Amino acid sequence: MSAVEVHLLPANKDNYVGVVREPGSGLVLVVDPGEKGVAPEFLAARGWRPSLILNTHHHWDHVNGNDELRSGFQAQLIASAIDGAKIANVDRVLSDGERLAFGAETIRAIAVPGHTLGHTAFHFENSGLVFTGDTLFGMGCGRLFEGTPEQMWGSLRRLMGLPDETRVYCGHEYTLANARFAARIEPDNEAITERTEEAERLRGGNQPTLPSTIGQEKRTNPFLRAGRTDMRRRLNLPESAPDSSVFARLREMKDDWG
Ligand SMILES: [Zn+2]
Repeated sequence: MSAVEVHLLPANKDNYVGVVREPGSGLVLVVDPGEKGVAPEFLAARGWRPSLILNTHHHWDHVNGNDELRSGFQAQLIASAIDGAKIANVDRVLSDGERLAFGAETIRAIAVPGHTLGHTAFHFENSGLVFTGDTLFGMGCGRLFEGTPEQMWGSLRRLMGLPDETRVYCGHEYTLANARFAARIEPDNEAITERTEEAERLRGGNQPTLPSTIGQEKRTNPFLRAGRTDMRRRLNLPESAPDSSVFARLREMKDDWG
């Protein structure tokens, strides 16, 4: 079977709304419609009718366009139970590990608490791609609004467990700002330097820096590198420091940095 087709639509200040089409069935879904009008305009230009809306978490900049897609297209709204309780008109709750058929594609929910307690990533298993919302960003990760560093580190570990070639679609275009922090932490990491140059080129042409891949994030995202011995040395932490406390230190530094 052929892979799903993904379109990232810029929304709000720096969000992405994802539109996914499964070519065999012609089915269409929308991930995190965070601004009214953005997805409907794109869909209308193609005559596409979404049957599903997936919400990674409850923040307004990810759910603001839900209702117009539900009422305009009778699309079914899907979210986790925890965050779904804070989202209006959820039609179906998807728990960790539950799967959803989407034409020839299978979508698996991965619970990734931390940014919010019910944050969910959506893994398109056949096509090998994942929507990570505000959990994993290009060279960064989301702030801990509701969860603990231990929860967020566990969530990032789950995403790191996906195959390296898995394409990563994030909820925001933050790669360049994150790149500057990554370079401060690891000034000698050539993969970060190369990726920064590529991101500058893409943003210069007003193109998304996404998708990245899980493998690329492992090489360039400091938050995914909290398990490494050299990261402890860089942060002046003892070798015995647990991975989650190395992660917590990185997250604090990023919060202070901006
Ligand atoms: Zn958020």
